[in-house]
Amino acid sequence: MSAIRSISRETAKARVPAEKSCPWCCDTIPREAKKCRSCGEWVVGTSHGIVAALLRLLGVAWMCVSVAIAAGLWYAGQALRGWVWMHSVNQQLTPRVVDFLLYVVIAIVLLKGIAVGVGFGIIARLSPRRPRWWT
Ligand SMILES: [Zn+2]
Repeated sequence: MSAIRSISRETAKARVPAEKSCPWCCDTIPREAKKCRSCGEWVVGTSHGIVAALLRLLGVAWMCVSVAIAAGLWYAGQALRGWVWMHSVNQQLTPRVVDFLLYVVIAIVLLKGIAVGVGFGIIARLSPRRPRWWT
């Protein structure tokens, strides 16, 4: 009975090999390894970490705030355009000039917001990958 048990334990140990094959370079590495010693690739799930996730979230929030500011400028600009149209304070300051200046300012706000958001995303991607702590 004990002989059968020891045999089944032997086969169970043989079924779980001490080494595995790296999916990237096919070299044999220890089963518990997280990183391949031959090619340096992670063989477990990795992530950029919580700081990178927060940085990416900050970039998205920055883009949303920029879009909201641009929308606010658009509404304020429409009111200003109507006021200029009604009062004609200056012969040079036509509603078309107000429109042009408004479009330039809105374009600058939107482009800056997108550039900062994308830049934060790039910085988050550049942070080194580490094994996920939740797996
Ligand atoms: Zn490898």
